[in-house]
Amino acid sequence: TSSAETLGFQTEVKQLLHLMIHSLYSNKEIFLRELVSNASDACDKLRFEAIDQPQLLQGDAELRIRVEYDKDARTVTISDNGIGLSRDEAIANLGTIARSGTKEFFSQLTGDKQKDAQLIGQFGVGFYSSFIVADKVSVHSLRAGLSPDQGILWESDGQGEFSIAASEKADRGTTVTLHLREGEDDFLSGWKLREVLRRYSDHISLPIEMRKEEWDSEKSEQVKKDEWETVNQANALWTRSKSEIDDEQYKEFYKHIAHDFEDPLAWTHNRVEGRSEYTQLLYIPKRAPFDLWDRDGKRGVKLYVKRVFIMDDAEQLLPSYLRFVRGVIDSADLPLNVSREILQESRDVRAIREGSTKRILSLLEDLAENRKDDYAVFWEQFGQVLKEGVGEDFGNREKLAKLFRFASTQGDSSAQTVSFDDYIGRMKEGQDKIYYVTAESYAAASNSPHLEIFRKKGIEVLLLSDRVDEWMLSHLHEVEGKSLVSIAKGGLDLDALADEEEKKHQEEVSESFKPVVERLKTALGEKVKDVRVTLRLVDSPACVVVDENELSPHLLRMLQAAGQ
Ligand code: ADP
Ligand code: MG
Repeated sequence: TSSAETLGFQTEVKQLLHLMIHSLYSNKEIFLRELVSNASDACDKLRFEAIDQPQLLQGDAELRIRVEYDKDARTVTISDNGIGLSRDEAIANLGTIARSGTKEFFSQLTGDKQKDAQLIGQFGVGFYSSFIVADKVSVHSLRAGLSPDQGILWESDGQGEFSIAASEKADRGTTVTLHLREGEDDFLSGWKLREVLRRYSDHISLPIEMRKEEWDSEKSEQVKKDEWETVNQANALWTRSKSEIDDEQYKEFYKHIAHDFEDPLAWTHNRVEGRSEYTQLLYIPKRAPFDLWDRDGKRGVKLYVKRVFIMDDAEQLLPSYLRFVRGVIDSADLPLNVSREILQESRDVRAIREGSTKRILSLLEDLAENRKDDYAVFWEQFGQVLKEGVGEDFGNREKLAKLFRFASTQGDSSAQTVSFDDYIGRMKEGQDKIYYVTAESYAAASNSPHLEIFRKKGIEVLLLSDRVDEWMLSHLHEVEGKSLVSIAKGGLDLDALADEEEKKHQEEVSESFKPVVERLKTALGEKVKDVRVTLRLVDSPACVVVDENELSPHLLRMLQAAGQ
């Protein structure tokens, strides 16, 4: 049916609205950035659908965004001639947050506005930010391909409900009208709107148009003319040369494509020429999204082909252990009608994936070397994901290993700051192995009885307690020719590090304990493989170890927990 209807927002939308209005007030002009960003996405989607259905562009092929204001009505209007919204789409997209895990996420909000504002930033603030400055928002839209009588009007005061009604609209696209709250009259100015658009939306690749204005000295005010002018640079940011783009523009572009509220941590922008031609602009976010570990979560970068938007979340363009990377890849080689299936097979895609991986790894190397604080932020947020890489990306194993950071017996906190290079640089005379212990927590690892002899000898041991560590270790056996050895496994060969006196002592002790060992073996019978005299322990009388080729106790417990 197309009759008028009043519907309630999803609970999480209500929470989001409430939080946003109160916590983002000091940054309220971002509503314009968000609405322009949506208009631009809508035009991208139309251009993509029009590859197969060129008739969708009929009558109006020049995609653009327009911003207007009306002093008397006290409204600001953002309109586009993009894909538009059908009735069902409007209900689904402007009334709910369609991201898995949203409910759980919102249940974690603390009530502390400062903290929660940071958290909701992960969503990008989006369309609902209109309510920061408006007490009523109207969305008039016509989906491309539908007839004018299928237009819709969505309206809400942001209090918990919205109405949706049929409303004729002559042309395809969406017009969002904001009825400004008391006190927001600043935005009823061509000068102010232009300033905000230039600051936040200059990177938008479509023209953003406003009416020309002229000073009327008789009325002594700015008067709008019928002519439109473009107020942004209106070319795709990634196609500009690096020297023409400043940091602010890179950051704003990131927020647009990543739907993030925070600045990115770092980025890399390159044009690749040769056998395969593409431009990449890739970003590392500052914060892991709440659905980083969700298999259905968003991942990957946006794919463009010769500046035409093709798809979001093109996960084939990067390996899965780099799924936190956001950005744009614009290929000159792929066909416009490329599908996800084709992407899986394509040799061009393989070249892009390899090239992009290399760039990201170099960017991380650069951070690790020259921006240590930022690297620490990165490692805290994404280190566990990066560790997956040693199993997934054989060719880059050494590079990845160099980027890893661990807690160790050298430090006294769980902070992961020690690299393999640091460790190797501190190895003892005669030491040719990298020692580690795995456990379920940092505390358990750092209290392991196996550490005693190492502490006594002053040999550093890496303390591993991330979930992925066992998995990582099953793929990473050595670094720079030094094998990785668990101190919880039997046959730990510390002889090379023992001096003559210690060796003699060991032999004597072994000899004198022979009868004890025999008695223990008989007593324990089938329960153990072997009983050995060891000098590994300093304070504890005995410990259980596993054979070198056996699974570690920690991994065994994990497998048991998983029902294996
Ligand atoms: P996001 O842009 O991160 O998806 P928003 O809250 O900004 O989230 O927008 C929600 C959804 O509403 C969009 O994903 C889109 O489906 C729809 N939408 C918003 N603005 C427009 C528009 N101008 N044209 C078409 N669809 C729109
Ligand atoms: Mg948006």
